[in-house]
Amino acid sequence: MMDRFAHLDWPFFDPPHAALSRGVETWALANLEDAHGEDADAVCRRLVKELGQAGYLEYCVNDNPDVRSIALIREVLAYHAGLADFSFTMQGLGSGPIMLAGTDRQKKDYLPRAAAGEAIAAFALSEPDAGSDVQAITTTAKRKGSDWELDGVKTWISNGGIADFYVTFARADEGISAFIVDAREVDATERIDIVAPHPMATVKLRGARGALLGEAGQGFKLAMRNLDIFRTTVAAAALGFARRALAEALARAKERRMFGQRLADLQMTQAKLADMATAVEAGALLTYRAAWLRDVRKARVTREAAMAKMHATEAAQEVIDDAVQILGGLGVTRGHAVERLYREVRALRIYEGATEVQKLIIARELLK
Ligand SMILES: Cc1cc2nc3c(=O)[nH]c(=O)nc-3n(C[C@H](O)[C@H](O)[C@H](O)COP(=O)(O)OP(=O)(O)OC[C@H]3O[C@@H](n4cnc5c(N)ncnc54)[C@H](O)[C@@H]3O)c2cc1C
Repeated sequence: MMDRFAHLDWPFFDPPHAALSRGVETWALANLEDAHGEDADAVCRRLVKELGQAGYLEYCVNDNPDVRSIALIREVLAYHAGLADFSFTMQGLGSGPIMLAGTDRQKKDYLPRAAAGEAIAAFALSEPDAGSDVQAITTTAKRKGSDWELDGVKTWISNGGIADFYVTFARADEGISAFIVDAREVDATERIDIVAPHPMATVKLRGARGALLGEAGQGFKLAMRNLDIFRTTVAAAALGFARRALAEALARAKERRMFGQRLADLQMTQAKLADMATAVEAGALLTYRAAWLRDVRKARVTREAAMAKMHATEAAQEVIDDAVQILGGLGVTRGHAVERLYREVRALRIYEGATEVQKLIIARELLK
């Protein structure tokens, strides 16, 4: 038997973490059964509200974030519904720069509404010619009185089309800078459809008015500080997906009969299950070590977070692929949990720094 919550006894956690994780599990069982609908926009709008009402968004819209709590919540939400994990984390990613660098006024205007699930947040950094190479962004920002005017195109913007505000990065005379841009100022009508659909758009800025966030020229550092908090939690989402795939594979292997015995009695199945379980545990250790180092030791976790993100997302992809194999035809049947996981996990190896980028980060830290 696998106890999905056995890791809550690890020394990385305090008693409130265990209570939080089990509380989210109870909430997820009661609320996420129909969180996989065709209309991802409507599902996400509803989920943001419900996660706000349940009080969970306060963990990621928080000026003193506890990475272990965010990671535990993501793990449980991802286990049950990818869109719930997405809605939860985007509120944090889109509000993070305001928490880190906003004025008191900006914090008051945006954060309480984001934490309550009343305003949807987006984080607009990537551009058609600036993804992995973020410093290549060409969107411009020019001072216009007390405001700024932004021109350019942002793409792959999660929550694009449903967001109320976009924390947007653009190039000013002083260098890359961050701005808060109201949804009314942008054209997010060009939607992007991906393998596991969530709200996403290309966002066009044509003389869009924006309010400077933090100091001009400090936007790149701000984006990286924000991603530093959330990178470890991408690993936690991958962990949730992988745990679900393992649970589905175990259940099916124990019930499916072939050649006069259970699929689980065949040694090739057992070898697969052993590899899957070990990959999941290794991912959990790396993830919660990185979170603990940051929360408790207040350490910089550039290397540890990159290792966690790289390993957990790559391992989750393999675990889910093995689960599909164990389920046979059922595994590729539209609507089955492992078919959904197979599509949902793929983007995690690309966004917030592709695996290759994580390797460069780890190597750079090693060679210092
Ligand atoms: C589902 C999803 C959600 C996203 N949400 C957001 C969002 O909300 N906001 C936002 O700003 N962006 C978002 N992105 C964009 C994401 O950050 C970029 O897709 C990512 O940075 C990669 O950029 P790219 O797609 O332009 O690929 P490219 O930069 O063209 O990279 C392509 C591939 O090149 C490889 N590569 C990269 N660097 C190296 C290297 N040094 N050596 C060798 N190979 C390398 C990697 O395999 C990489 O996947 C999202 C993307 C996805 C898929």
